[in-house]
Amino acid sequence: MSSTLIHSIDWNTSPLLPVIAQDIKSGEVLMLAYMNQEALSLTLQTGLAHYYSRSRQSLWKKGETSGHLQHVKEAYLDCDSDTLLLKIEQEGVACHTGRPSCFFNRIDVEETPKEPAQEIAAYSISDKIYHIIQERKKADPKSSYVASLLQKGDNSILKKVVEEAGEFCFACKDNDNKEIIYEAADLMFHALVALGAKNIHPSLISKELERRFGLSGIEEKNSRNEH
Ligand code: AMP
Ligand code: ZN
Ligand code: ZN
Ligand code: ZN
Repeated sequence: MSSTLIHSIDWNTSPLLPVIAQDIKSGEVLMLAYMNQEALSLTLQTGLAHYYSRSRQSLWKKGETSGHLQHVKEAYLDCDSDTLLLKIEQEGVACHTGRPSCFFNRIDVEETPKEPAQEIAAYSISDKIYHIIQERKKADPKSSYVASLLQKGDNSILKKVVEEAGEFCFACKDNDNKEIIYEAADLMFHALVALGAKNIHPSLISKELERRFGLSGIEEKNSRNEH
């Protein structure tokens, strides 16, 4: 973090800066604690997270007693310089209860109400289909094609994918645009069913495609071999 950025923190208004520690590799949010100005300086100087303990009213080097040090790899101030995000490598665990993250106390949240009609338009069609597929897992196979397909299991779903892929190819060979679009829709729909059966949201496919932007096809293939 550049030194000019640090000067944008208004310690007078809020002497304790909330700090989120996130695992740099997994992205898991590990803990939230506070820093005073001294804790931040020490953190930036040593590369080890230092906080200010509100209960003990003293400076606290994370891991001092437990050995569970936090190696700070990246630090970000938020848009209005009143919250800090640390991307860290955690030795041991972040939480003093021995859990990897402090956020293990799950509380109930009302499920999101059905999206109102105008919002549906903003949702991608694949997202809508994904959620319909999830709902059909609980539906009666006699009343729903997707439910019956899901109940028959992977082999039936995958057979449909291959079948629709074949029909799509034949449509392309026939140069019949209307038919190509129709069969492509069938193929994509059944691929979405196969993904839905595995609880893979289609946005993850978009993300993967996005990741490949800017890579040449050859670079992309090589990057896959490295995995
Ligand atoms: P440590 O910094 O891991 O050596 O722990 C020293 C003390 O700091 C513990 O006894 C706790 O009081 C407190 N502590 C450590 N980790 C956390 C945490 N993630 N959240 C709240 N308090 C913590
Ligand atoms: Zn913002
Ligand atoms: Zn803020
Ligand atoms: Zn904790």
